[in-house]
Amino acid sequence: MAAPNCVFCKIVAGKIPCLRVYEDPSVLAFLDIGPLAEGHLLVIPKDHAERLEDMPTDILAHLVRQLPPLARAVLKVTATDSYNLLQNNGKTSGQEVPHVHFHIIPRKAADGLGYRWLASSYPAGRGEEIRRQLVAALA
Ligand code: AMP
Repeated sequence: MAAPNCVFCKIVAGKIPCLRVYEDPSVLAFLDIGPLAEGHLLVIPKDHAERLEDMPTDILAHLVRQLPPLARAVLKVTATDSYNLLQNNGKTSGQEVPHVHFHIIPRKAADGLGYRWLASSYPAGRGEEIRRQLVAALA
């Protein structure tokens, strides 16, 4: 199902053009219009879902199965051996287009893209408390 004002649904419907790389009945991959590097791909489900956890699991599984061959193609064409897989959910995470998408971003040494990984640590006992809450939330 398409959402009326969704830019990626419009791409799926052919109402907005894209540089298509791969398509099957439920998945589309195309070049990001604002690439962080040449070959930066977006991989989306054709049916609208705003966030990863909204997706039917069979469609999600099918989409994920397409990622390795797409990543291999990106690596080959961009002549590198590294990439980031990025998938944002929610505005605070940086999601600007509310239609599930996976970024495949090829990386090269000194490409200047950087990566902020501001690691912290748990105060005594807090890790165990969070672990218990997560296990309970899964029940
Ligand atoms: P995110 O911040 O994870 O929601 O990423 C959204 C991405 O969609 C950005 O990298 C945009 O450059 C890309 N984007 C937005 N509109 C289009 C479009 N019409 N065609 C291709 N990529 C797009």
